[in-house]
Amino acid sequence: MNMMRQHSLVVYGQLLRIEHERVRARLNRFPAQSWTGDVRSQETEPAITHDQYLALAVNDLELHKLRQVQASLQRLRDGIYGSCEICEQRISEKRLRVLPWANVCLHCAAQPDVRADTHGVLSHE
Ligand SMILES: [Zn+2]
Repeated sequence: MNMMRQHSLVVYGQLLRIEHERVRARLNRFPAQSWTGDVRSQETEPAITHDQYLALAVNDLELHKLRQVQASLQRLRDGIYGSCEICEQRISEKRLRVLPWANVCLHCAAQPDVRADTHGVLSHE
């Protein structure tokens, strides 16, 4: 069993909590109903301005990230943080440092049929 060192887990936990607060702070700039409900339903609004559209698009991304960060915090509590959700191999620390909320390893994230959210991080590695 390839357990991650306790020290690393504490560091990633802190990174995740910081990111969680940051994302929430950004989401809070917009009216609550635009992100607590289904963000996508707002796209059918007829008189939406370009600025509103951009705000919603950003919200959508932020909301997605918030869910990932929350899921990672949950995995941390469950003691399974740092394992790939698909192949269950350990996610490299290099990857976790760049993307502490990564839920799949680099190998699985590179598979075309995996809808893991990497937001272009792969292309920078
Ligand atoms: Zn994997």
